Amino acid sequence: MDDVVQAQTGTPPVRGAEIAVDGLAKHYGSLKAVDEFAINIRSGEFLALLGPSGSGKSTILMMLAGFEVPTAGRILIDGVDCTRLPPQKRNIGMVFQHYSLFPHMTVADNVAFPLKMRGVGRTERRRRAAEALKVVRLDGYGARMPSQLSGGQRQRVALARAIVYEPRLLLMDEPLSALDKNLREEMQLEIKRLHHELGITVVFVTHDQGEALTMADRVAILRGGKLQQLSPARELYERPANLFAAGFIGEMN
Ligand code: ADP
Ligand code: MG
Repeated sequence: MDDVVQAQTGTPPVRGAEIAVDGLAKHYGSLKAVDEFAINIRSGEFLALLGPSGSGKSTILMMLAGFEVPTAGRILIDGVDCTRLPPQKRNIGMVFQHYSLFPHMTVADNVAFPLKMRGVGRTERRRRAAEALKVVRLDGYGARMPSQLSGGQRQRVALARAIVYEPRLLLMDEPLSALDKNLREEMQLEIKRLHHELGITVVFVTHDQGEALTMADRVAILRGGKLQQLSPARELYERPANLFAAGFIGEMN
């Protein structure tokens, strides 16, 4: 029934996770890498975490993914307290700055790897890896080795691997900063298309103001582990919350 409605309206299924983060902190000795960070992320929202190097962006993402345990605070995903759950129990896909593909595995095996980790059988793995490669427009590339692909294609393989088990939340840590300008713009469109098609929630880390403004529904500006401003992308120009936000956004021009 739902499928029929979707086919008629062309709208994606509502699949995105809802995130509630409260009082989140990560301290390394006396350094407060993340300090009292709180945010509610809506289902299907595209949120950019924007800030200079060292502002705590990656640390927040690693805590959302479960690779770092917070010093304090709580992370609820769809109302479930995930603060101390391991990554594989969170239904999250993740893409890093460097493609981190396994060089000795074919593209298809790279994409299917998360399924293997979850005990999915070989035939099913093959089918779903081929599906995911289709979604990122790399149909027919499964038998190649990563070294035979361009930078943009490798990053698309990393995307396919992140969505292969149909996560409801996609976390991306500066996924495009290693690419040249043309590829980066192409991949920005590709990621927006995927977000629209899959209806999943996206948290996208970047230090590039232009990238955050063109891609995100809302932008969270960070400095020294603290949230400076959280606004719809276009309001960042019109109503910067403080001098830091105004200066940081102003650097674009
Ligand atoms: P960003 O991704 O915004 O560049 P990070 O989240 O990587 O920032 O880092 C935030 C701060 O925490 C930085 O000062 C960094 O040096 C520090 N930091 C990150 N990870 C560790 C760690 N494992 N041990 C000690 N300090 C860390
Ligand atoms: Mg980082």
